[in-house]
Amino acid sequence: MQTEKIDILSGDRQAGIDRAGEILRRGGIVAIPTETVYGLAASAFDDNAIKKVFEAKGRPQNNPLIVHISDLDMINEVAEDIPATLPALAKRFWPGPFTAVLKKKETVASRVSAGLDTVAVRMPASAAARDIIRAAGIPLAAPSANVSGAPSPTTAAHVLADLDGKADAILCGEDCSVGVESTVVALFSKPPRLLRPGAVTAEELREFLPDLIIDKAVLSEPESGKPVASPGMLYKHYAPRTEAFLVVGDSRDFIRFVNSKRDCAALCFNEEFPEITVKKLSYGEKNDKKELARNLFAALRRVDTLNAQCVYIHAPDKSGVGLAVYNRLLRAAAFKVIEL
Ligand code: AMP
Ligand code: MG
Repeated sequence: MQTEKIDILSGDRQAGIDRAGEILRRGGIVAIPTETVYGLAASAFDDNAIKKVFEAKGRPQNNPLIVHISDLDMINEVAEDIPATLPALAKRFWPGPFTAVLKKKETVASRVSAGLDTVAVRMPASAAARDIIRAAGIPLAAPSANVSGAPSPTTAAHVLADLDGKADAILCGEDCSVGVESTVVALFSKPPRLLRPGAVTAEELREFLPDLIIDKAVLSEPESGKPVASPGMLYKHYAPRTEAFLVVGDSRDFIRFVNSKRDCAALCFNEEFPEITVKKLSYGEKNDKKELARNLFAALRRVDTLNAQCVYIHAPDKSGVGLAVYNRLLRAAAFKVIEL
């Protein structure tokens, strides 16, 4: 990859990891791979570095960031009054795509949590991500490394397309294997509340949190003026530039519907692809929700290359990881849903 404007570091080499750690310790911002999506990392203790992250992304100030730790001990540097439910959840889901919202320690920069007294914490499964945190020696706050509102980046090329010249460095690693952001759970609230679905499913969480509730904002547009548990749930998000509609219905009806819409494109399942006669892309097999999640954001970026007036996206069912895919698509379509 060629660029003049950003330091490109290799995730395969210790020298790249060490350099990323050094930049982060000195208050710089570095895009890093994780198993969910690429993150734009900064020291969780450095309010000025966090300010640069918000500016680089154009992220609204009221949308808090997740703090990433490499080892369980590190949690005590950022959170306090750890709830009794956490150890078993950490044992089962960490390292991995599970984020716990906990009581924040004073030392965490206030911009990280957008002024809230809570902090979202996760230990990534990506070895490169944990190596960078260890090299930096500090917990790293990192939102997705995209321009705010655009589909999240799942490859180093996506990051460069959005943030070249806006971050100090990018550490290039593997493409993201999960492909959607982590599952966020407010553990301190009673009952515990799922704020954002991800690859760790509500079904899996209920083995540990039988009273878990799913926040209303996961599947519906928050009513304007009403408070939400997590400000990040409010916006149109993950959206291609092409106007998107989410379509709910079976394959036969979806194929018939899109084939009647000449100027628009379809984002469909593999099984439907051969029968669609308008511009089209597929994002995986209908029943392989993990594959749909992994391909989702790259597919949303590619939609714009079709130069269509709009895109109709076939929604997966909402069980398992399907809930995370549906949740992202709902926002990509700015809550415009067509039920067939
Ligand atoms: P992103 O950084 O783009 O993956 O988004 C982070 C997500 O975590 C957003 O949906 C935030 O609203 C949510 N989040 C982060 N910190 C908190 C917190 N303290 N309370 C509730 N939600 C949070
Ligand atoms: Mg994001």
